[in-house]
Amino acid sequence: MSATIIDGKAIAASLRARVAEAAADLAARGIVPGLAVILVGEDPASRVYVASKKKMTAAAGMRSIDHTLPPDTTQERLLALIAELNRDEGVDGILVQLPLPPQIDAGQVLLAIDPAKDVDGFHPLNAGRLATGEPGLVPCTPLGCVILAKTVAPSLTGLNAVVVGRSNIVGKPVAQLLLAESATVTIAHSRTRDLPGLCRGADLLVAAVGRPEMIRGDWIRPGAVVIDVGINRLAGEGGTSRLVGDVAFAEAVEVAGAITPVPGGVGPMTIACLLANTVRAARARRGLPEVIFEPA
Ligand code: NDP
Repeated sequence: MSATIIDGKAIAASLRARVAEAAADLAARGIVPGLAVILVGEDPASRVYVASKKKMTAAAGMRSIDHTLPPDTTQERLLALIAELNRDEGVDGILVQLPLPPQIDAGQVLLAIDPAKDVDGFHPLNAGRLATGEPGLVPCTPLGCVILAKTVAPSLTGLNAVVVGRSNIVGKPVAQLLLAESATVTIAHSRTRDLPGLCRGADLLVAAVGRPEMIRGDWIRPGAVVIDVGINRLAGEGGTSRLVGDVAFAEAVEVAGAITPVPGGVGPMTIACLLANTVRAARARRGLPEVIFEPA
């Protein structure tokens, strides 16, 4: 058996197209949603990611506002910039690119962002809203995971979902979203006993670990849906490198019913969901009704 490959690139492109339509609708009312991205330091991966966000924000018909700060930026300077962006009526979304340099307390920075402009969904108020089932801004990568799963399993109700990883940015929010879809959710982590056995019970397996190809083919229940969030760069021969996920794809594809590839699976969904969140924030701040971008 060979699994259906979930084409994250194509699904993300169609989501971005729907976001662009919603942005055009706002533009017709004189509103151009603005997304401010703050990058502190010179982390190469962050730079690439921020450049890509900028390009896609513009392509969706929205305004991209970039702030690149030096690596020795103080916490006070960063908090002052966030306060300025919180007050700026032309800014609908604020994103601080992580990781931040060691002199800055990331928790304090996330707390300083106006929850109404928190398009990353990391503010504790939005995390609490997600946990209590209140409407709010939802973290982008977890939202992307659920959208991808629903393209092959439109109803997640009653499915046994196992999420491997319990970070605040992926594991926990993805588990909350799956719970909201009425899946029966188990969250696994580094202290979980018999992880392979637990994974074998999953109809839906989400891997968000950060360990290359840790989840093997024989950990997967035949026919399961596998969403691989991991992005791991492995060194190849002659100075080359390649990206792999947290799932051993070549093995898993023979067992799973459907699986996301790396690259080209969850990755492209993150920016698409960020753009969707920016339009959502722009509408909510002006009291306009919510638009639904994702499959119901
Ligand atoms: P973290 O390092 O914050 O969390 C990793 C989680 O995996 C932790 O909960 C940890 O458990 C768990 N874990 C580590 N080792 C094991 C193990 N041997 N067995 C079981 N669980 C284990 O990572 P993130 O959540 O930030 O990211 C996870 C992956 O997703 C990374 O590869 C990252 O690059 C990728 N990612 C991709 C994104 C995208 O596609 N756009 C966005 C964000 C992340 P414990 O809590 O016990 O330590």
